[in-house]
Amino acid sequence: MLSRPIFLTHSGTRKKERFTSMIPGEVKMYSCGPTVYGPIHIGNLRAALTADLFYRFFKHFGYRVTYVRNYTDIDDKIIHQAQKENATCDSITEKYIAYAEKDYALALMEEPTHKTRVTEHLPEIIEMIGNIIRNGKGYTSPSGDVYFSIDDFPGYGKLSGKSVEDLMAGARVEINPEKRNPMDFALWKAAKPGEPAWDSPWGRGRPGWHIECSAMACKWLGPKMDLHHGGEDLIFPHHENEIAQSEAATGCAPYVGYWVHNAFLTFSSEKMSKSLGNVVQARDFLAEYGGELARMVFLGVHYRSVFDFNAEVVDQAVTNLERVYEAKKIAEEIRAKKVLLPDPMAEQAWGGFIIDCDRAKEAILEHYANDLNTAGALSELFTLVREFNRALKQPNAANTPAGILAANEFIKVLEGQIGTVIGVGRMRSETMLAHLARIKVSRSKREGKSVIEDAEIEALIQQRKIARENRDFRKSDEIRDQLLAGGVLIKDSPQGTTWVRK
Ligand SMILES: [Zn+2]
Repeated sequence: MLSRPIFLTHSGTRKKERFTSMIPGEVKMYSCGPTVYGPIHIGNLRAALTADLFYRFFKHFGYRVTYVRNYTDIDDKIIHQAQKENATCDSITEKYIAYAEKDYALALMEEPTHKTRVTEHLPEIIEMIGNIIRNGKGYTSPSGDVYFSIDDFPGYGKLSGKSVEDLMAGARVEINPEKRNPMDFALWKAAKPGEPAWDSPWGRGRPGWHIECSAMACKWLGPKMDLHHGGEDLIFPHHENEIAQSEAATGCAPYVGYWVHNAFLTFSSEKMSKSLGNVVQARDFLAEYGGELARMVFLGVHYRSVFDFNAEVVDQAVTNLERVYEAKKIAEEIRAKKVLLPDPMAEQAWGGFIIDCDRAKEAILEHYANDLNTAGALSELFTLVREFNRALKQPNAANTPAGILAANEFIKVLEGQIGTVIGVGRMRSETMLAHLARIKVSRSKREGKSVIEDAEIEALIQQRKIARENRDFRKSDEIRDQLLAGGVLIKDSPQGTTWVRK
C-alpha cells in the first residue's frame, strides 16, 4: 500500500478530507448504478466512469477493494416501459442490463466485486424494513404501505446540509393522508393490479427505491462502508434516505465514511448533434468513438466539475490522444531497434528525459491523491509527450542505446500510471492512430467537408513520387498542397513517404 496521504472532497462537509479506511489496506465502496428501463445516457456513463476511476485508483494505491455496483430492476419507470413495449418487466430489465454491460465493457470499466440486482435481494430488503419498524423509525399505513418516519431520525438532512424545512420547501411534497410527516418516504409500496409484487409481513407489494441500495450495501459490505459514490442528483433524497434507513436499521453510524459525487453533465452546444451525431445514448458514443476516447473525454475534467459535453471537448480529446499515441508509436519503434550507435549529445538529451519521467510519475501520483485530479495527471502526461518530442529532435536520438531506456520509461508512465488508473494509453499505437483517423474522416463527412479517401491519397503519393523522380518539383508541390488542403499531411523519409490526417 502506498503510504501517501489521500484527500477526497466529502459531499457532506464539502471540504477536502484526509481519507482513512475502517480496516487499514482495505476499501469497501458502493456506487449507485442505473435503473434499467432504457439504454444508459451519456450522463450515466460519466457517473459509471467516475466510480470505475475510484475503484482503479484505490487498487493502484495498493488497497484491497470490495466494490459493489447495483442495477435497479424494480421501479415505476420499468413498469411503464414494459407496458409501452408490451413486454414483461423481467424481459425489459434483462435487455437493458445486457445493454449496460456491453457499454461498460466498451468503456473499459473493470468488473466490480459484486454486481447486484434488487430482484435478488427481496429477503434482505424485507428484513431491513422489519428492523427499521422494530427500532421505532418506520410505520405501516392503513393501505399497506410502509414509511420511514423522518421525525424519529434526528440527523435527517445532514448530507445535503439542509434542515427538514429547507428540504421540504425545495421538494415537491404531495399531501398524503397516509404519511405522518409529508417528507416521510416509502420503504414498501402495497401492490397495485398488474404490477410485479412480492409477499411481505405487510402484505404483497414492492420495495421503495431508496431501501434497495441500503439493503444491497449492507448485505455485501456490512453496516458501514468507506466510500459511497453517485451522481450529484442523488444526494437528496436518495442518499439522504439511504443514510436514514441504514443507520436506523443497523444502529451503526456513520453508514458511510466518505460520500463522493460527480457533478452534472450539460449539453450547451447546438451544433453538437451535427458534428458528433446523435450520441445522447452512451452506446452510440462508444460505438463511434471507443472506450479510450470516452475516458479521455470524461476523465479529462475533474469529477466534481460540471461538464459541458460538446463537439469541442471531443475534438480536443481526439487531438490529445493522437499526440500521445504518435509519441507512443515512436517509442515502440525505438524499442524495436537492433542497430544502435552511442551518441553523447543524444544520450544526454535522453538522460534529461528520464529525469522528466521520474518527476512526472511523482506528480501524477500526487494529482491522484489530491481528490482524483485526473485533469492534472493528464496534463503531466502531455508535458512528458512534449519533452519526449524535444529529446527526439537531437540528431541520432532514435538510434542511441539511451533511447531504448527512455522509450521504456515513457511507455511505463503511459501504460502503467496513466493506463492503470485513467484507462488511457494501453492500446497498440497503430490500432489507435488508425481509429482516430477514421473518427476524423467520419466527422468531416458529417460536416459536409470533402474527404480524400485512403486509396486516393495513396494514388496521389505515387504520382508525386513519379514527379519527383522526373524532377518535376512543381507538380510534386502541387500534389502536396492538394493533400494538405484535404487535411492530409505527408512526411518524406529515407524509408518512403508516410501520411497522417490532421
Ligand atoms: Zn442507490
